[in-house]
Amino acid sequence: MAPTLEAEASTQVDLDAPLHAAPKLVAPEPEHCPGPESKQAGLNPACAGCPNQTICATAPKGPDPDIPLITSRLSGVRHKILVLSGKGGVGKSTFSSALAWGFASNPDHVVGLMDTDICGPSIPKMMGVEDETIHVSGEGWSPVWVAENLGVMSVQFMLPNRDDAVIWRGPKKNGLIKKFLKDVEWGDLDFLVVDTPPGTSDEHLSVTSFLKEAGVSGAVLVSTPQEVSLLDVRKELDFCRKAGLRVLGIVENMSGFVCPNCKHQSQIFRATTGGARKLAKEEGIPFLGAVPLDPRIGKSCDYGESFLEQFGDTPTGQALMGVVQAVGRELGLDVEEVLPGN
Ligand code: SF4
Repeated sequence: MAPTLEAEASTQVDLDAPLHAAPKLVAPEPEHCPGPESKQAGLNPACAGCPNQTICATAPKGPDPDIPLITSRLSGVRHKILVLSGKGGVGKSTFSSALAWGFASNPDHVVGLMDTDICGPSIPKMMGVEDETIHVSGEGWSPVWVAENLGVMSVQFMLPNRDDAVIWRGPKKNGLIKKFLKDVEWGDLDFLVVDTPPGTSDEHLSVTSFLKEAGVSGAVLVSTPQEVSLLDVRKELDFCRKAGLRVLGIVENMSGFVCPNCKHQSQIFRATTGGARKLAKEEGIPFLGAVPLDPRIGKSCDYGESFLEQFGDTPTGQALMGVVQAVGRELGLDVEEVLPGN
């Protein structure tokens, strides 16, 4: 008989359970840990033999006192958007930065971009602020402002050396994300774009759980056209449904290549099974648009510049603007209000 993972099912995280304060542990959590903040902490059969068992079993199971702080800290943010992808390498961070630049191209908007990819933060480089440090005031940590109306926050600002690897276990990562949400003084924002790492990891769980009370407006899923990427998007969709996250829609990134010289369009990652458009139809979620590859996007990211500002009239620029409008539409906004004159 083929081995099954059924025995592990009891250690699955309960996404609906209210978050509890994490107890102080005497040893790292083992791999099969159901979560020291969970109702089952210390009582689950998977906890047998764990050095933390007594601490977890007797820790008060009251709600996490930081949740109301996070909720009040983010009370001035109108729309909180998570950017998710099932797989790495689909251009999620590039898309997150373009979405933030896109919203911020309307001077009436104030936009925040938060990088929760703790192990591979790339947003500071893409936004041209990688050498910045965070200012701390009595109000909290101030985001780094890359434009008058666009602020960025990333773990990279706290690392002594940008080439340092962040080798942290789940609780430490969760702690940092909580600190981001609790201590960053975003002020009043129209949009907060949250860039997440690929997959359905600790970071997703943390962001989703911590923001539940504050209210996430929805998630944008990013994929490339091939089935190998769409496969993982289906898992991400499942995660969103289980976590009660509204899906604003899916974007097909790297959807063809338009030569900047001759304008000829070719397919690099062929949509063998119909691509993201077909998946969106099957799953009953909005298709937000297809964004073709343009080598100048990579260059803009390397130089920390806004691709939309420089190449907004190219096919890729126009497609990205269309996606920004589509996200706005899904948020219930008037497209003219999101990007006037586009
Ligand atoms: S006792 Fe606590 S730390 Fe150990 S496995 Fe259970 S919940 Fe995790």
